[in-house]
This record gives sequence, C-alpha cells and structure tokens, in this order.
Amino acid sequence: MPGRLLIAGALVRTGDPARPSVEAIGLEADRVAALGSAREVRARLPGAREIHLPGATLLPGLSDSHGHLLDLGQSLALLDLSGLSDPAQLASAVAVAAAEVPEWILGRGWDQSRYPGGAFPDRALLDAAAPGRRVFLERIDGHAALVSSRVLSDAGLLDIADPPGGRILRRADGSPTGVLVDAALEPARSLIPAPAPEALEQLLLAAAQRCAALGLTCVHDAGLDFDSLEALDRLAARGALPVRVYAMIRATDPRAARVRALGPRVGERLTLRCAKLFLDGALGSRGAALFDDYSDEPGNRGLLLCGGELTLALAAWMRAGFQVALHAIGDRANALALDALEQSLGSLPEADRADRRPRLEHAQVLRPMDLPRLVRLGAVASMQPTHATSDMGWAGARLGPQRLRGAYAWRSLLEAGAVLAFGSDFPIETPDPLRGIFAACARQDAGGGPVGGFLPEERLTRAQAIAAYTSGPAWAAFDEARGGRLCEGSRADLSAFSVDLLDAPASELLSARAVLTVVGGRVVHGPAA
Ligand SMILES: [Zn+2]
Repeated sequence: MPGRLLIAGALVRTGDPARPSVEAIGLEADRVAALGSAREVRARLPGAREIHLPGATLLPGLSDSHGHLLDLGQSLALLDLSGLSDPAQLASAVAVAAAEVPEWILGRGWDQSRYPGGAFPDRALLDAAAPGRRVFLERIDGHAALVSSRVLSDAGLLDIADPPGGRILRRADGSPTGVLVDAALEPARSLIPAPAPEALEQLLLAAAQRCAALGLTCVHDAGLDFDSLEALDRLAARGALPVRVYAMIRATDPRAARVRALGPRVGERLTLRCAKLFLDGALGSRGAALFDDYSDEPGNRGLLLCGGELTLALAAWMRAGFQVALHAIGDRANALALDALEQSLGSLPEADRADRRPRLEHAQVLRPMDLPRLVRLGAVASMQPTHATSDMGWAGARLGPQRLRGAYAWRSLLEAGAVLAFGSDFPIETPDPLRGIFAACARQDAGGGPVGGFLPEERLTRAQAIAAYTSGPAWAAFDEARGGRLCEGSRADLSAFSVDLLDAPASELLSARAVLTVVGGRVVHGPAA
C-alpha cells in the first residue's frame, strides 16, 4: 500500500472550479488528502515522502478514452511500416524481417496515401521479398491488410466473391491484389497464431507501461477479446497494472455472452462494464458508411457491418447492466447508431433508461441534425483529435465540402451540449496525450500546417481539450465522483508535464514530456518509480 506523498514545486491545476490551482498536493494511500501551500500540506501530512518538480505543471490524471492495449503491445513488437513513403521501402522491410522471424511476418502501419500516385500496394511485392512466406501487414487504420499469396491461398481467398461487409481489391484481370478490407480480412487474420497466455500478459503490460510513461493514468480499451481480458485480470490481481483500464468487451467475441451473463465488474485497476459494437469501417479505406457516394469514388457508400439485429443486441447488453459503445465513422453509421440507441433505450422499462451514457466511438462524420439527437440520448462523443490532423489531407476528397463540415466537429458537439471524451485510437496514432491536445486546439500537423488550422472553427480552447482528457473520460466511465479532478478525497491519480498545458505556446506542447505519473498514490513513471 502506498503511504504518504507530498508533491511540491509544481503548479497544481486541480480541474476543480472551486479551487483551480494550488502550490502543493498531498496524497495518503490512494486518495488526495490535502491541497494548498507546501507548508499547509506538510503540516497536514507529517512524515510524507516529498517530490519536488520545479517548473512542472500537475493535472488530474489524463485518460485515453479509446485505445487498444493489445494492438499497442503487438505494434511495439511488430514491423513498423508507418511513415514509409514508397512501396519499395515496405518490400525491403519485409525482406529484412523474413531473415529474422521464423514463421509469420506481421507488420502494420502502411498507408498508400503517402505513396507516389497513392495506389494500393500489390502482393507481388511481398511474394518477391519473402517468397513462399506468410505475410500479413495491417493498414494504418486496422481496417485493411495487405497479405501474401500464401496467406490468400491458406485463407481460401484466391478465387471467391467479396464476402458480405468486406472487399477484396482486385487487379485488372480480376485476381486479388492481396489487399483485404474489413470483413474480407477476417479469414486471413484468423490464421495468425494467438500469443500464449504469458506472452499476452507481456504484450499488455508493455503497452500499459508505455501509456504510463506518456502521462496517462487510465486507458479505455475499445474492444478486448476474452483472452486479453483474462490476462488483464491476472495482471490486475497481481497489482502489476501501472494504469487503470476501463475495458470494453468486443460484442462479437465468441465468449462475449459469458461476459454478459456474469454482469459488469468494477475494480480498482480493471473495470469491465462496457460492450463494443461496430457499425462500419474507416474513412481512409472507404469503409465508413455514408448516406451518399464517396466524393472520390462514385457508386461506393462504404460498408455497414450490422443490420436490424443491432437494436436487440444493444438492449441485451443494457439489460445486463452494461454501457454500450458503438464504433461509428460515416454519417450513415452515426445516424443508424442513434436510431438503434433510441429504439433499444425505448425497449427498456422507463426506470432503466436514464443515465446509460452510451458512447459513440469516433463520431467522426455527423449530419447537423444528429448533434442534438446525440445530446438528447445522453451519449458520449468519444473522439480522437489526431485522427483529424492525420486525415485532413484526404478527408475533403472522400467527403466533399458539404459533409466535411460535420467531420471531426468536436467544438460543434461541445456547444450542442455533448460530453467529449478524447483518446488516440492507439496504436493507429501515438498514445501521447500532448499530441492530442495540440491537435484539438491547433488542428494543425506537427509542422504547423495548414496555416490557421484545418476547419479552424472546430478548434478547442486548451481548457476544453484538457477537460476532454480528464473530466470527460471520467464521466464516460461513470467515475466522475472519484476521478477527473483533484480535490480532497478524490483518487490519487495525477499527471505532471514539463510545461503548463493550459498556457504554454502550442509549439511547446510538441516538445514537452510527462515528468511524473501517479496512479492510486503510487508513482508509475518519474522519480523513484
Ligand atoms: Zn479503435
């Protein structure tokens, strides 16, 4: 059990309007015990261990409201193809890996929009770089993969029609290019051997440690499988998890019904009370479900991953006491998510309808008329600021000017009365919350482009962005009574950074770093962690 800890020398921004900033904070066991001047706090907590952080600014612990721990752990161990600007570089990375790894060559992060001409790569590259090998390379958005001929034939995908909810990209002669989109990539993905239980724990732990080192105290994992959940459970029971995990179970997991029957579990380090369902794919691979055609691909309106059964599924999870989280990117997917929420909530007894806090994961493209509907349903807009700045180069081409106005519209959502919970969707983007706060406020890339920002009317103030990483996620996790701000009795979860996130010039955010992370009164990153 952690003892008494006093942190002084930093500016403490509490997030509590009654007392917005103090000089020092004292922690006792896993709670905030005193706030005030260093002298006051010292008098209240005699014998406390002291940490001095001159020049730093301390905030309530930051949460990432949408990340994928297992994917992050795996990506730390995988071939990293992000940032490559030519398919030839991808091929040489695969050739190097072929000499190093025994069986499957796994990678992720490629993005054809960075390649000259922007065409999707072809499996011929992989077959030449690693002849006869099984290669599976996920696209940056996780909704498409490039696989080798060996994988296509093992998965039985060489000469079949597109499966429902998926697409197999094809060459002029009709043969598959090796790029599989959404449901089409499942037969290939399912061939990849699952890590053994201990390896799974190591992957999850490595990811959680990375998050702690970036100043995060809590991660909302947006879609765990049953095995990962059990591994997290074992880590939590051993006291090994450095950050809190608010888990969503993937509703499509074969054992999800068992989780539902057991009901929600609320714990100190691991809470499972949310189910994640998918409505559509992603915008980059044109899998997001739109009402009208993609502006850059007439005839294509994206993919809908579920139909009329959605309402029943939502109601079943809610009746079992779970929050529901719906992945919705395109305007049609978001509208259908709201329809299904209205219907499923309407099917519950009146007394059970209030305060369900359903979540729209991404809420990326919305029709203007759907903003007030989202607010009326008490839904949380779980959004990822760095998606806007990663997508801004091509989002306008996919959507056209009219629909683009409802894209990444966090300011409009906030002004309509929605609760914003920000995250990164790591490992698609870095879990670094400083990148997210910068993107939310500047709507620019790290180089400062475009001048004035992308759709600048949707920029947030620094205070609004910080709230979307602190009080917003606490609300989204039903944890606002204990988390999301620093006051006496609240959770001893805090994040300290080398600059004042509220006031520092935007450019300084990108070179700032997390200097201390405390979870439940225990230092998990920083001095004497
Ligand atoms: Zn995600």
